[in-house]
Amino acid sequence: MAVYEHDVLVIGGGLAGMRAALRAQELGADVAMVSKVHPVRSHSNAAQGGINGPGLGEGGGPWEEHFFETTKASDYLGDQDAIEILAREGGKEVLQCEHWGVVFSRKDDGQMAVRRFGGMGKARTFFVGAITGQAILHVLYEQLMKPAVHDAMRMYEEWFVTSLIVDEGVCRGAVAMNIRTGELHAITAKATIIATGGLGRVYEPSTNALICTGDGIAQAYRAGAPIMDMEMVQIHPTTLKGSGVLITEGARGEGAYLLNKDGERFMEKYAPKMMELASRDVVSRAEQMEIDAGRAVDGCVYLDMRHLGEDVIKEKLEEIYEIARDLVNIDIAKELLPVLPGVHYIMGGVKTDIDGLTPMPGLYSAGEAACVSVHGANRVGANSLLDTLVFGRRAAEHAVPWMQGKTFKPIPESVVENDRKMIRGILDRPTNGDRVAKIRRDMGVSMSANVGLFRSPDKLVAQQGELKTLRERYDKVGVEDKGSVFNTDLLFHIELGYMLDCADMIATSAIERKESRGAHTRLDFPNRDDENWLKHIVLTKQPDGSEKMTYIPVTITEFQPEERKY
Ligand SMILES: Cc1cc2nc3c(=O)[nH]c(=O)nc-3n(C[C@H](O)[C@H](O)[C@H](O)COP(=O)(O)OP(=O)(O)OC[C@H]3O[C@@H](n4cnc5c(N)ncnc54)[C@H](O)[C@@H]3O)c2cc1C
Repeated sequence: MAVYEHDVLVIGGGLAGMRAALRAQELGADVAMVSKVHPVRSHSNAAQGGINGPGLGEGGGPWEEHFFETTKASDYLGDQDAIEILAREGGKEVLQCEHWGVVFSRKDDGQMAVRRFGGMGKARTFFVGAITGQAILHVLYEQLMKPAVHDAMRMYEEWFVTSLIVDEGVCRGAVAMNIRTGELHAITAKATIIATGGLGRVYEPSTNALICTGDGIAQAYRAGAPIMDMEMVQIHPTTLKGSGVLITEGARGEGAYLLNKDGERFMEKYAPKMMELASRDVVSRAEQMEIDAGRAVDGCVYLDMRHLGEDVIKEKLEEIYEIARDLVNIDIAKELLPVLPGVHYIMGGVKTDIDGLTPMPGLYSAGEAACVSVHGANRVGANSLLDTLVFGRRAAEHAVPWMQGKTFKPIPESVVENDRKMIRGILDRPTNGDRVAKIRRDMGVSMSANVGLFRSPDKLVAQQGELKTLRERYDKVGVEDKGSVFNTDLLFHIELGYMLDCADMIATSAIERKESRGAHTRLDFPNRDDENWLKHIVLTKQPDGSEKMTYIPVTITEFQPEERKY
């Protein structure tokens, strides 16, 4: 076993991880970044529609409006001190990206163009066609590749973190596998930042990449860090049938309509003012009600982009044009595109303060893995990219001064040996006819059916039973590849363990929250209940393996909760 030592270890090479690593390096720390895939293959790469730019002059609009709209969209579960920071500091991050070289789409006069996203009172979302995430991710990677930065940093590309190292309640780095050799090593650090992204693949179908398996959230949970708001799973209104591939909200931002099978713009009934650009939870529920009432075709409603014209479509939504053409053979300039709601984003995650610090000293988190909480019960579109940059940077800015003067402690061999044993256990297990992929699918399909858009107590309880059965199967299933080089069979197995932990936390929190708020709709408690539920649900694993549930009040600074109308 090799032991590597770094001041700051960033787990994750998506936007949150890269932003944190860049900032920590700028501040003079010896930084390491680990990513299980090449960093530019992180899911941030798939972000299509844009990034909000609050406070950026005419385009982004006053930051105070963004502060209010994000709070309202969060159904008042977002912590307002954190949302205020997102709104105040977000514009600067967008501008920084532009200065680094992100080629934002422009208006004819050369100004950066904006489009309107759901839940926002006006257009304040900057974008690069429909490849915003890819454009920003590549530019950040370029910054990391500058010789001065690159030489001062260590990138562990295609290394897979298996667990956090915790000693006397302090996080001291992580155990990770070099995927190329299969060897496990300790990467010790004075501060560790979890930026491992979301868990969308706990559901099937999902808009998320196959690698979005909640690893960091589960690892933090197993290490005893608190996990918050896990019942808040965002269901996006427009995904493709079958594959679940996302059709960006940017399409509606450019003016696309939603129609039912009778050609009616049904959002008139549900959100007469903001129509298709009401907040995501509202639009998804409206679609599902149309589908359930039989006003749908093959379980889908239609996205109508025909009136936008071929020029606008090809200039601003080219990738959507290509997705529709290549995956379902539809020309969106001439035909209607069938869409349905699909799982997209986790608002919950590793509980942190406004500096990305968790209650465990030395452990930070940022990006989709974290719950600061700026998204509360429902995330505003284009706020996640912003969240990754603002809080990735802030985590580094807190971690670097914090770790000054701290020393490395020797890591006992047993830390790595535990994970080695776990892996040996999986490899030695005989195959039994069951398969990891089958269990993963059964988990995803049952989570969608039972802990999806509309939640009922009987289905939630049934899912807890189902998850117990799935875990029994998981404990017995083996892998076919017994090798050590690039054993993706083994990695899928380990990831499934993380996903089952996340699924359990989602189901437990969803049963607990006896009200409807944002993305969480309980059929037996259809109303929001501020008297009893204006609070976060937090789950923490105890040293004896049991789970403790606690509540934390929501931070309210400016806006008292009021009824949400769009
Ligand atoms: C299709 C799609 C479109 C979207 N569009 C938008 C949009 O237009 N605007 C917006 O604001 N948001 C959008 N989102 C949401 C947004 O893209 C994500 O929430 C955000 O990019 C997450 O960034 P991140 O850095 O937290 O994680 P990610 O980009 O997911 O990166 C996670 C990193 O962690 C690493 N990792 C994970 N587990 C391990 C492990 N065990 N060991 C080592 N490394 C590990 C991965 O290799 C990866 O580098 C979209 C999401 C999807 C799925």
